[in-house]
Amino acid sequence: MAVGAHSRVLRPRSAEEVVACLEVARRDGVPLALRGTGNSYGDASINSRGHVLDVSRMDRVLAFDPERGVVEAEGGVTIARLWRTILPHGWWPKVVSGTMFPTLAGAAAMNIHGKNNFAVGTIGDAIDEIDMVLPGGELRTCSRGMNAELFHAAIGGLGMLGVITRVVLRTKKVHSGDLWVRGISTRNLREMLDYIEGQRTSADYLVGWIDCFPGGDASGRGLIHEAHYLAEGEDSRPERTLQLEHQELPASILGVLPKSEVWRILRLFNNDLGMRLVNASKFLAGRFEGHKGRFRQSHAGFAFLLDYVPNWKWAYGRVPGRTGLIQYQPFLPFDVAHDVMMDLLARCRRAGIVPYLGVVKRHRPDPFWLTHALDGWSFALDFKVQPHTRERLWALCAELTEVVLGAGGRFYFAKDLVLGPHDIERFLPADRLAAFRALKRELDPQALLATDLSRRVLGW
Ligand SMILES: Cc1cc2nc3c(=O)[nH]c(=O)nc-3n(C[C@H](O)[C@H](O)[C@H](O)COP(=O)(O)OP(=O)(O)OC[C@H]3O[C@@H](n4cnc5c(N)ncnc54)[C@H](O)[C@@H]3O)c2cc1C
Repeated sequence: MAVGAHSRVLRPRSAEEVVACLEVARRDGVPLALRGTGNSYGDASINSRGHVLDVSRMDRVLAFDPERGVVEAEGGVTIARLWRTILPHGWWPKVVSGTMFPTLAGAAAMNIHGKNNFAVGTIGDAIDEIDMVLPGGELRTCSRGMNAELFHAAIGGLGMLGVITRVVLRTKKVHSGDLWVRGISTRNLREMLDYIEGQRTSADYLVGWIDCFPGGDASGRGLIHEAHYLAEGEDSRPERTLQLEHQELPASILGVLPKSEVWRILRLFNNDLGMRLVNASKFLAGRFEGHKGRFRQSHAGFAFLLDYVPNWKWAYGRVPGRTGLIQYQPFLPFDVAHDVMMDLLARCRRAGIVPYLGVVKRHRPDPFWLTHALDGWSFALDFKVQPHTRERLWALCAELTEVVLGAGGRFYFAKDLVLGPHDIERFLPADRLAAFRALKRELDPQALLATDLSRRVLGW
């Protein structure tokens, strides 16, 4: 929302129609951006210089094996449709994002991670096979054993190498529709990172929320949510909790306020003072939650917290390209992460631009060429964008980027709107980037597939 563009949108329903769409863009002499449901925070599926190919109508689940938990689906199938198809049979996606609305193709093209990245890797690690329509129109199937290079380049490849039309992926056997969840209140960042690290080999999900406002000893204070799957037999009524009704997010908050209206209330607090108050209240509530012990929560309730509040982003303003929010999410090597995160928080406070939300996750490396994941931590920071602070915010992000790159960190393109043309060369391994560029030249010599993001960070 902090960015936007008007484009002609093409909505194919099949691989054949995808070929026709590529032809339309070629004939019109404009680049074509691939788009799922547009859930990337920045300009990853926006094209201010050409057409957009939206795959969300290719939304059929083609096959599901309830014995093995393997799903074959068209690229436009959303994570929501995926879990709704498999959960009643006792399966859950291995990797989901904090919202259920992304498509499988969009998720594969960004190689998304969940709150369990440290344990199971990214979505690419769960994908066995993809079909792609290449820019020249040829359909190619890729897996670890077939066209392996293209497989590892296209997953996380930002939609630059071809249109993902079909995905085959493995899912996770679950014995209940619920998870065991526990809140752990932490007084500062050190406490938070130490706790998460200590639970890394036993917990199934770990995520830390941070109040970015206080400095000093309380810098990085927050609340961790740790979740575990229920073991077989632990849920006395799995046939009930695995049903979709048990997972549905409530239609109202506290039983009275329709959730479609909640963003209006959030908007009232969407300023420095309000957010200082909201964060402090959340921290205090978290201290009580920490004493509550473990409780049961549905998979959807735990995974898709943000989906409780439809259009929550509108609380940040609704003027495309002028107001909204950006998320700035560096990924930091394990050894330096704590000190760098503290430094980033201090710089934000000094600049008088404090993120309204901070989220910490633990990650592990994976084999995909442009991946963001590493052995370390990510630190997602949500900043409000306003016309009068935009320039200062971008300058602050440029300063933070220098710190992150200097410390060996990297970035995630699903969340980026601030990187410049040469930053990518400073954090992606040179051989990987060179191989990716070579593959692009081979498969798409005219750079038919391009987005505002690719022009900004890759130069095509
Ligand atoms: C509230 C919220 C929470 C989020 N939480 C997380 C999280 O926890 N972890 C995480 O990793 N991400 C998270 N994200 C980011 C989101 O999961 C990714 O941006 C995801 O890629 C969005 O998928 P999409 O279908 O909307 O794709 P889009 O945003 O439309 O596109 C994403 C990329 O995929 C490419 N693409 C789209 N379709 C195709 C195709 N058919 N073939 C090839 N390339 C294609 C696009 O060109 C673009 O580069 C979150 C986003 C939101 C809004």
